[in-house]
Amino acid sequence: APAPLPAWHLFSDPAEVEALRGNLLSWYDRCKRDLPWRALAATEPDADRRGYAVWVSEIMLQQTQVATVIDYYNRWMQKWPTLQALAQASLEEVNELWAGLGYYSRGKRLQEAARKVVSELAGRMPRTAEELQKLLPGVGRYTAGAIASISYGQATGVVDGNVIRVLCRLRCIGADSSSPAVIDRLWDLANVLVDRSRPGDFNQALMELGATVCVPKAPLCGECPVKQHCRARCRKLFGKPSPVPDVEDCGVGDCPLCPPATEPWDSSLGVTNFPRKAAKKAPRVMRTATCVLERRGCHGALEYLIVQRPSSGLLAGLWEFPSVPLAQDLQEKKEREVLADHLQAWVGWPVAAKGLCFIGEVIHIFSHIHQTYVVYSLSLDGDVTVDPALSPSRWVTKDEFHASAVSTAMKKV
Ligand code: SF4
Repeated sequence: APAPLPAWHLFSDPAEVEALRGNLLSWYDRCKRDLPWRALAATEPDADRRGYAVWVSEIMLQQTQVATVIDYYNRWMQKWPTLQALAQASLEEVNELWAGLGYYSRGKRLQEAARKVVSELAGRMPRTAEELQKLLPGVGRYTAGAIASISYGQATGVVDGNVIRVLCRLRCIGADSSSPAVIDRLWDLANVLVDRSRPGDFNQALMELGATVCVPKAPLCGECPVKQHCRARCRKLFGKPSPVPDVEDCGVGDCPLCPPATEPWDSSLGVTNFPRKAAKKAPRVMRTATCVLERRGCHGALEYLIVQRPSSGLLAGLWEFPSVPLAQDLQEKKEREVLADHLQAWVGWPVAAKGLCFIGEVIHIFSHIHQTYVVYSLSLDGDVTVDPALSPSRWVTKDEFHASAVSTAMKKV
């Protein structure tokens, strides 16, 4: 059996846990931000609608800033106020509303899961974290815990990026915070800490603390409601961890939660010694040629050809200007030829590579891909009909383009 963890990294004093909960909750009551999903979760009497409202917010907030999400959330809830309404929407409508929010599979999965709740669970949301995770596609451990605690009052903890940072600092956890072993310990800590009578508020308070006070680069420790419980701060102020056990028991040898011996505490970093992550993998570098094909529409307005991406993979089902991935290190002449060949399939006759007008390059960073779009344009004269046997395509005006399900990268293009 693994050796028991040093108390240094745990919350083993019930009186301290009680004090921490009280301090955090009273700070939250005073300082929490007004957010539309919080208002809904607090006032909606129907449990299924409450669960749905929290679920939508949690999915939108994954990897996305609160300020960006608010407008999307309000529009979504206005358009689909219930699970039943969402279950009846088309994927195209979902993609259109989601356009610009990124990580597009989230919207698709949310809608698939809503259909499942309606068709297989009689429209009733599962009420516990365990069931939510088991029964709803796209709902992981974090989202399940958030929905269950906030909507249904289940006393279960949550661990997201903000909680990881706060807990690692509170308990001086310096081992790789993305490793499964450390993540498991953080879930244990979150489950010990969560307030039994106000679990949803407590979880939101812990996340709010990470988002507004215990921020990554310059945390506001002086204003922190749990500073007296924070071992990283204690270590910063007093130069060494106290009062729990002899630090020499922890950090040397094989404590699984201490910083590795090769990267010890760095006093110039203070509390931002924690958390620590293994170095990220470098993003994949990709280059894609894309062409803005333009024609004069029947009403005289300029129109642009957009085509639909495949229904799986990156940006699944979204629309884009005809694009083709390029091998690395191609000469410009060769890049034009590759694009001209690709365009021939769309316009139905040979396209001269020389006729493509180079516009510039657009760089867009996806989470794991460093993408460069090499942008060309081509004006077409006369009537152009795209072969309907090809994947779906349509001509759109500039306004229609912006209202379509297109990615932020394409808008940049
Ligand atoms: Fe974070 Fe500082 Fe508060 Fe500790 S005292 S939890 S490091 S803000």
